[in-house]
Amino acid sequence: MKNYHKIITEIYSDLKNVNDIGKVANYIPELANVSDSNFGVHITTIDRNSFGIGDSDKKFSIQSISKILTLTLAYQLEGEKLWKRVDVEPSGNPFNSLLQLEADLGIPRNPFINAGAIVVCDILISHLQHPKEDFLAFCKEISNNPHLKYDEKVAQSEKSSGYRNIALCNFIKSFGNIKNDIDIVLDFYFYTCALEMTCKEVSEIFLFLADDHFITQKGKRVLTMSQAKRINAILLTCGFYDESGEFAFRVGLPGKSGVGGGIIAIHPDEFCITVWSPKLNKKGNSYKGMLFLEQFTTATESSIF
Ligand code: GLU
Repeated sequence: MKNYHKIITEIYSDLKNVNDIGKVANYIPELANVSDSNFGVHITTIDRNSFGIGDSDKKFSIQSISKILTLTLAYQLEGEKLWKRVDVEPSGNPFNSLLQLEADLGIPRNPFINAGAIVVCDILISHLQHPKEDFLAFCKEISNNPHLKYDEKVAQSEKSSGYRNIALCNFIKSFGNIKNDIDIVLDFYFYTCALEMTCKEVSEIFLFLADDHFITQKGKRVLTMSQAKRINAILLTCGFYDESGEFAFRVGLPGKSGVGGGIIAIHPDEFCITVWSPKLNKKGNSYKGMLFLEQFTTATESSIF
């Protein structure tokens, strides 16, 4: 592996005690119970070289990072028809905004904001017999990892406090872009957000977006090369709420953040890297995570630009 090991170790120790001005998300009560001092990093290259540091083997709530996984399965099942239900434009609005939906007649701007992921969940429900079980089985298959599971406490906590997502789902349904029962759609959405993984597991599950030749243990491709390219493109332009431009500007990789403080960044043909640090900046992205990745791509000269 390049000199990633050394560089990650150096940046990690520089940032470990940096003054972190972020705040742990507490609008989902269960997320506020996580210690804000957690800090882990893990990189997996497409040659399956792997290196982790800090809390890289502790499970955390991946939250919106799961939106890549729901989108991937929906793209597999639905093909290009998917883009009639959800657009591929940056929103320039917070992840849980209702504003734009009115003007856009219930077609969410992209699959990585809550509105878009809720529509993607609705599409999956129309295809899957047992959505929660089938989605988890899909995640286990593409990561070759039988240990993945939902964090029940996080799912229930979000369910009991998810007023905005409930509003979003109802609002989209009023435009006819939710086909199934809203309670079923929301329950599935909350569970997908409650997937828990370690930094190592996250860096492994997304290898199919970095490695053009990726096949599962069963010998199957996850997406075509063209589909993987498209998902990376949406990640670059829409993966960080209304800070996607800033992430591309400072880090220069496709990626996705979640309000649990995790970030996955993908370098096509090279690696997947995950950083987890729960304190979020004002836009909802991990403060230290962004700082780490900015320094990492600068030191390794590994942005895609
Ligand atoms: N479950 C979170 C929500 O729906 C996901 C938000 C995020 O990580 O961006 O509010």
